Amino acid sequence: MVTTNYLTNLENLSDQMGVRVRTAPAPGDWWGVYDRRRKLITLRPKLARWQYDSTFAHELGHAYFGHHGHHPKTELLANRWAACRLITFERLLEHAATTFDKKALAASLGVMPWVIDAFEETLTYSQKLVVSERLSECHVA
Ligand SMILES: [Zn+2]
Repeated sequence: MVTTNYLTNLENLSDQMGVRVRTAPAPGDWWGVYDRRRKLITLRPKLARWQYDSTFAHELGHAYFGHHGHHPKTELLANRWAACRLITFERLLEHAATTFDKKALAASLGVMPWVIDAFEETLTYSQKLVVSERLSECHVA
């Protein structure tokens, strides 16, 4: 149910940004691609929900920044932008209390593991500490 809300948000966001989304084969083995000229996101068919949402948000990040082509720097920016649309610090803490590592945390939040990494990059040192304490507390228990 939560995922539906987030998906709706992503679709609303892309509407507001004037970006169209379609499901069709993407180049090579890519899961998604953003075409700046056509303001069009293409998402590979048959992605699982967490793959779809994470990829959709990532490509929307490229659209937001007006990225063209692929560069490590723009990938990082798109990842961080996506992570901040997919999760919040409160939700991260809430889910960290019931999981024991990042992979399980990502699954619990319905996102790809890279979303957690990208989100952590946006946190302050003390916020990161709180998250790792939550994770290890659960692990010890
Ligand atoms: Zn990208």
